[in-house]
Amino acid sequence: MSTRTHPAAGVPNNAQAGADRSSGRLVLPADSTELRESIIRTARRLQEQRVLPGALGNFSVRLADGRFLVTPTSRDYRTMEPGDLAIVSADGSVVHGPFPPSIEIGMHRAIYAARPDVGAVIHTHAPYASTLAALGRPLPFLDELTRFSPGPVRVAAYGPAGSDELARNAVAALGGTNAVFLAMHGLIAVGPDLSAAEQVAEVIEHLAGVYLRALQSA
Ligand SMILES: [Zn+2]
Repeated sequence: MSTRTHPAAGVPNNAQAGADRSSGRLVLPADSTELRESIIRTARRLQEQRVLPGALGNFSVRLADGRFLVTPTSRDYRTMEPGDLAIVSADGSVVHGPFPPSIEIGMHRAIYAARPDVGAVIHTHAPYASTLAALGRPLPFLDELTRFSPGPVRVAAYGPAGSDELARNAVAALGGTNAVFLAMHGLIAVGPDLSAAEQVAEVIEHLAGVYLRALQSA
């Protein structure tokens, strides 16, 4: 399967975001209504697929100017408008937005700082992924996972939501892979752009369900 099966996600038309396949260099987007709409569409799609229950979860995209476009805290994606998203600077200060950014922006920023290859971060409380996170059980390196991440999905040590401790633990357990479980909490999925991160979030939830059913029948 191609890593580009969702043409509606990421940045459509000019496709400025993502990894330049020829050079391997990350090509980052500028802030735009189109980019903001693509984040909201991605969130709604994941909600429809039950990967994003309720308003629990958050999204960010690294911008070409070094700042981050982030979903606001505690807002319903079904009624979210492009203008509701926040712009946060590299040092974490809020540059613009009518609502506070997600409380997990510190974790997103820590991941971007550690991983120059990452252009988008998605955090979900997807049911199967969250079950493995609650059990403290990593997802083994199943064959299907190899197309989406270079290693198994490890479990980051516990840290309270929104804390520096959680951010540090998530970065450490993520390593060079594209997904990590947050103990007693949920999932982080990353990619060079929003579309790639969305596919990681989807496939991890699918494989977590497969793995849990396999454990039950063993
Ligand atoms: Zn969370």
